Parts: sequence; structure tokens; C-alpha cells
Amino acid sequence: MKQKKFILQESEIPTQWYNIQADMPNKPLPPLHPATRQPLGVDDLAHIFPRECCEQELNTKDAWIDIPEPVLEKYKYYRSTPLVRAYALEEALGTPAHIYFKNESVNPLGSHKINSALPQCYYAKQEGTTNVTTETGAGQWGAALSYAAKVFGLEAAVYQVKISMIQKPYRSSIMRTFGATVEGSPSMSTRAGKDIITKNPTHMGSLGTAISEAVELAMTTPGCKYTLGSVLNHVAIHQSIIGLEAEKQMAMAGEYPDTVIACFGGGSNFGGIAFPFMRHNILDGKTTEFIAAEPNSCPKLTRGKFDYDFGDEAGLTPLLPMYTLGHDFKPANIHAGGLRYHGAGMIVSQLIKDGLMHGVDIPQLETFEAGVLFARTEGIIPAPESSHAIAATIREALKCKETGEEKVILFNLSGHGLIDMTAYDQYINGDLMNYTLTDEDIAKNKIGV
Ligand SMILES: *Cc1c(COP(=O)(O)O)cnc(C)c1O
Repeated sequence: MKQKKFILQESEIPTQWYNIQADMPNKPLPPLHPATRQPLGVDDLAHIFPRECCEQELNTKDAWIDIPEPVLEKYKYYRSTPLVRAYALEEALGTPAHIYFKNESVNPLGSHKINSALPQCYYAKQEGTTNVTTETGAGQWGAALSYAAKVFGLEAAVYQVKISMIQKPYRSSIMRTFGATVEGSPSMSTRAGKDIITKNPTHMGSLGTAISEAVELAMTTPGCKYTLGSVLNHVAIHQSIIGLEAEKQMAMAGEYPDTVIACFGGGSNFGGIAFPFMRHNILDGKTTEFIAAEPNSCPKLTRGKFDYDFGDEAGLTPLLPMYTLGHDFKPANIHAGGLRYHGAGMIVSQLIKDGLMHGVDIPQLETFEAGVLFARTEGIIPAPESSHAIAATIREALKCKETGEEKVILFNLSGHGLIDMTAYDQYINGDLMNYTLTDEDIAKNKIGV
């Protein structure tokens, strides 16, 4: 009988994360202080983030980092996650490709974000922090952080992008159920929020505005640290648990991926599934292709500029070297809230420059068509973010149908869409649309100081 799912025993769950920075042919450029333009050290970052996270952020030496025992214990509540062969999707497409997906939606929080929320809160608690704050787009990160904060005995304050709060009200309920306080961003509770609202009273928020507010709260509140669910290198390190498990599970299936695909917001679930396999491209001469799928309404990988830019709208963060659409880029109100960020992570940006991976951009309607096909074949309603990976997978699988190639395609199912049913309703009713950006739309945004 054909095996459908591959699951690891608890004793087989990896006990170390993988840090691709140690193996990259060219290291990411350093983050810079916006005023002096000098590279930042651990001490410069440690007044905002937990110190251990800052050390991981700038660690270009150690390929392997031990997962702390208490974090591993919490991982065991929901890991390993299954690796699944998508036989029904393959059949519906009539493709000779073998399609596998790593199912990161099967934890109570519903997405991969919990993999990094747990260590970030653990490290914060270890160094005596009492409060954590963060931004959240669609709300998956905020939900994961609220739970992780509670698990390790911290108070959490979350700024949620206003449009997402309206589109997905249940995510704020989840956060509040775990004990967090939730504010829509831009809000009147911070200087940054007030300034944004004064300039633009109908601003519906972006990850950029929410980050400004959370960073400001962390900087002005003693005992409060800021946490980030994506973009930064330490987040990609924590998410490597996805790919490290997948590597073992693909071996159980007796296969190795020719293509690895994930959707792309700031790069954490992409890095999580891709980097452990990319390691073998860099070190062992494997030739796996890596594809990051972004919305064509937020196309930083395919149409952004590689430059130093701020991570937030107000310009409070360090300058980060990345592919960016400009820190004041206002994305269309697409339903993939987690993919509406203006910049790509520093590691991914360097890997794209070096030709080790590439991006594809996908229109909103194609992602929903893919998501619905996946739901009707595999029985899982995917997050609108994850549907970008499914759409890119379908494109690759249909190419195989033309060429007859039996490629092995692995994609990451970053989350489920059970709190995104309004979006599915709108798609089914024919009320969703594509958004295309002109070159002028892209050129008018501000990059750097
Ligand atoms: C946050 C999120 C993303 C996008 O973030 P990345 O850091 O690029 O992974 C994708 N999918 C889901 C389900 C998310 O919650």
C-alpha cells in the first residue's frame, strides 16, 4: 500500500537548529545604525530583543545551535509535524511529479509561527524580562506569541494591523484568550501611531506601522522586550526545525526533493523548510531548486531593490540590507495578511543575489484557485498565505505534465485557513480581485534614510 504520511518518533525530533549563515558562500551584509551607518553589534540590539536572539542574529560561525531543553519539551506538544504525499492533488493535476507537503498547520495555533515564539519567549524569560510586545499581520504570529508568553510566564502586548483585525476578528479573540492585550495599528497609544494617523487618518495599517508601535513600546517600557515573527535571522534559525524534520521524513519516503517551495512574507517559513536542504546544495553539490512564492501585489523578491532600508514605517529599526519595496510601501488589502511586508530577510536577500534561490509572484485569484483545489483534494483548507506555495507548486507540477518529468516537489503548508473563511466566501462569490502594481507605484516609495 502507498504510504501517505511520514511522522517522526519524539526521540527523532532534531535537538539542534540549523544556522545557514555559517555555510553561506557570501555572508549577509551587517545591519547598520541609521545615524552612524556603522555595523551593529549584539549590545546595540540587546536593548530591544532578548540577548540570546541577538547573538544568534549575528552568528555567522556556528552551523548548529542547541535547542534549549524547555523549548524542546514544548515542541513535543505538537512536533513532529507530518510530511504528507499529496496523491489526490497529483491525480487531479494529472502530473507525474511527486508532491509532498510538510504540514505546519497541525498545532493548536494553526501555523509555523509557534516554532519561533517559544524560544523567543523562553530566552526573554531567562534574562529577567517580564513583558513582551510585538506586531502581527494576519494574527498568526500574535496568537503564537500570546500562547508562548503565557507558557513561559510573560505578559504580552500585541499590535495587530487594523485591516487584519477587521478581516479576521477571531484572531484577536484567540490572543485575548491566551491573556494578551491587543491594539489595532495604527493606534493612538504610541507616538509613532499618532504621527501615522495624523498624516493619514484612514490608514488601515501595515506590518510597518505595527512594528513601529511595538518597537516604541519596548524602548519606552522597562522590562519589556520586542519580538518579531519573521524577517530576522534568528527567526529563520528557529524555523529550521521544519526542514530538518522534513529531511528525515523525505528519507523515510525514499526520496529527495528536486524543488522546494514556500510562500514568502519575511522569509521564516521559507528559510525553515529550505535552508536544511540548501545546505546540501552548498556543501554536497546537490542541485535542488528553491522557489519563494510572493503575492504579485507585494513583489519585493521579483521587483524590489536590494538596498539598506528600515524594517518599519516610522524608521525606528536598524537599516537592514534587503530586497525592499520601500518602508512606506502600502500593500493592497489582499487576504494573505502575512505576506504584505515590504522587505525580505537579510539571509534570503543575499541568497537571491548569489543565485541560490529565486522568487515567483502570484496573483490573488490564482492563489485562491489553488487553495480551493487543495481543499477539495487533500481535505485541508490552507491559509491564504500558504496558498501561494500551493499555486507555485501547481505551476511546477503542470510543467512536469508537459515534459513528463517525475520531479519530487516539496512545499511547506505554513498554516490552515480556518479563520480566513470570509476570504474564501468572497472568492466563491466572485468578489475578490487581482491587484497589479505599475513601475511608478513601486518607484514612489522610500528606501533608506
Ligand atoms: C506569517 C505567515 C507567513 C509569512 O511569514 P514568513 O516569515 O514569510 O513565513 C506565511 N504563512 C503563514 C500561515 C503565516 O502565518
